[in-house]
Amino acid sequence: MLPYQYILIIGCGRLGSILANELSSLGSNVVVVDRDEEAFKGLSTEFSGFTVTGDAAEMAVLRSARIHESDCLLAVTRHDNVNLMVAQVASTVFHVSRVIARVTDPARERVFRQFGIETVCPTGLMASALLGAL
Ligand code: AMP
Repeated sequence: MLPYQYILIIGCGRLGSILANELSSLGSNVVVVDRDEEAFKGLSTEFSGFTVTGDAAEMAVLRSARIHESDCLLAVTRHDNVNLMVAQVASTVFHVSRVIARVTDPARERVFRQFGIETVCPTGLMASALLGAL
């Protein structure tokens, strides 16, 4: 069991759906937000959390996803700007204790960090993995 009660995942694409399925199977309370309802088809039949359809850049959507009750938020849409904005709002407005954002552009990672946002950069991870494989 993870040390988080309510985990909010923003973006239910390839990455978000894996996270949602895994965290749900570990027993966490998971809410997933995606603006495209079709995206939730990536969730497994065992997924026991909630889904919210809407644009995560809108406060009303974040509120209906119960961001104020979340203690962990993973912003993993494919849009760095959306992830940064949601991560900032989660930290500064709703005081979510653990916030991690996906950032595809390594150059933008510095900006995220200046805002105090914890990041994971798939591009950097892939470069390290490939260089390590040589
Ligand atoms: P992927 O790149 O396959 O990991 O998919 C990213 C997911 O993020 C897609 O399902 C998009 O519909 C979703 N997405 C992108 N922008 C937003 C947004 N502003 N609000 C909610 N979901 C989004």
